[in-house]
Amino acid sequence: MKTKLNIKKDDRVLVTTGKEKGKVGKVLKVDPAKGKALVEKVNLIKRHSRPTKGSKGGVVEKEGPLNLSNLMLLCPKCNEPVRAARRPLGEGKSARYCKKCEEFMDS
Ligand SMILES: [Zn+2]
Repeated sequence: MKTKLNIKKDDRVLVTTGKEKGKVGKVLKVDPAKGKALVEKVNLIKRHSRPTKGSKGGVVEKEGPLNLSNLMLLCPKCNEPVRAARRPLGEGKSARYCKKCEEFMDS
């Protein structure tokens, strides 16, 4: 099944399920093939790194991937979690817009 990706890098999203439910963050990366995304400061995973020449080592926190299906887009205009809809613009193009305030999300 192919789902249309409505979440992109730099979007603000809300986590709707799982242990990080309710958290909001900026999308750092989307992996459409796996249906996953990295969200800034959400689902942090601790990793131990070994000391190297440049660093002392220790515990590093990194974002772990979240399922795209557990994320909802936050509208930058009305700040509500929404399912973005697409509106055709002609010439095969379309733009995302908010179903609540009807503002376009892509500037
Ligand atoms: Zn809106």
